[in-house]
Amino acid sequence: MSLMRQSKLFTKTRKEAPSDEVSKNAELLIRAGFIHKEIAGVYSFLPLGLKVLNKIENIIREEMNKVEGIEMRTSVLQNKEVWEKTNRWDDNIVDNWFKTDLKNGGQVGLSFTNEEAYSNILKQYVASYKDLPIYPYDFKSIFRNETRSKSGIMRGREFYWKALYSFSKDETEHNVFYEKMKTAYQNVFKRVGIGHLTYMTFASGGTFSKFSHEFQTITSVGEDTIYLDENSGIAINKEVYNDEVINELGLNKETLVEQRAVEVGNIFSLGTKFSEPFDLKYTDEKGEDKFVIMGSYGIGLGRLMGIVVEVLSDDKGIIWPESIAPFRVHLLLLGEDEAVKTEADKVYQELLNANIEVLFDDRVGLSAGEKFADADLLGIPTRVVVSARSMKESGVEVKNRRDEKGGVVSTEELLNNLKNNV
Ligand code: ATP
Ligand code: MG
Repeated sequence: MSLMRQSKLFTKTRKEAPSDEVSKNAELLIRAGFIHKEIAGVYSFLPLGLKVLNKIENIIREEMNKVEGIEMRTSVLQNKEVWEKTNRWDDNIVDNWFKTDLKNGGQVGLSFTNEEAYSNILKQYVASYKDLPIYPYDFKSIFRNETRSKSGIMRGREFYWKALYSFSKDETEHNVFYEKMKTAYQNVFKRVGIGHLTYMTFASGGTFSKFSHEFQTITSVGEDTIYLDENSGIAINKEVYNDEVINELGLNKETLVEQRAVEVGNIFSLGTKFSEPFDLKYTDEKGEDKFVIMGSYGIGLGRLMGIVVEVLSDDKGIIWPESIAPFRVHLLLLGEDEAVKTEADKVYQELLNANIEVLFDDRVGLSAGEKFADADLLGIPTRVVVSARSMKESGVEVKNRRDEKGGVVSTEELLNNLKNNV
């Protein structure tokens, strides 16, 4: 249970974001005290920001575990020899590596992706058809020496992601899982509140499949262009958009609408692209050796959080969906009156006792207007005010972040409403 008094929260809201910050997501998140900017593309997550990130992580974890994902964690420092197997250590092939020297000689790289690490580890454990399929995944910080870092936490040089890799016996088994992951991804985006704006998008594949699938969220600040068929909810990325693809997918050019969007996640069939260089094979039921068939499935958690802020905010601040809000309730104490303070403390305790996550604005010396403005900026779904006025009406004033006006209800009614709306 989170115990949180705003007087004890060291972060403060700010009127201005750093002048070099051009993206709305980072601007709002910095002003509200969710993140701290180190340098362009590198952000620290402050207590409020970490709460949101952890909630996103838990939703993704639940959906990955439902499809039999197994969580682990690969190291950030990566072994040069492992990456030489696929030729991806070379800076001419991969130009966004961060690399560093070891004191006693040699070099390591900071993970920019995980395929090699997983293939190398799994090579130690996969031998027979009985060992497959498996779906390991991790949450991890990823490092990319990006040149474009103007999109706040949507494009970091350091960012936090979930990556799952599937290891299957054959194409059929792979395809079944790939379809399950499409649903798992849709579940994630629905649950975090961007399902209505996020579309499965056909994008370029690779040697082993014609297409990969991106999950693109419509927003005017998107770096990608997609062509969306609103009826089927399917889109095509500009990079593969042509008459042949439109026909192949059974879509009609007339009904496709061009949109700007951000890729929040993607899924990819890898075939034997990595199992071959790592000689990752298993022995099948007939005693024959076969290459493992792989797939990769990524979601950027910071990017997802940034997208939510981009698409769900207004001129006053952020509007968090209930599922990933740092707290469910923002309790505001107004005024310095002792009786009101006592009442607010009582409501705070009752919310805690009912296991409802609450941020208690118990700060003194701030006007009602300042507290309201902060509450709007922070974007916690339900605002509850205890003041001399609400006490006169024998209740608390409740307002949803989305609404202009609220109303007075008894504490009992408030608790019931919150309990019935989990
Ligand atoms: P993009 O096309 O946007 O550059 P990508 O195709 O390189 O991304 P992947 O390497 O497949 O992305 O990474 C998987 C997921 O990680 C992406 O779908 C995205 O959500 C997230 N991601 C990728 N790059 C970044 C970044 N620089 N900052 C934050 N999140 C990122
Ligand atoms: Mg991409």
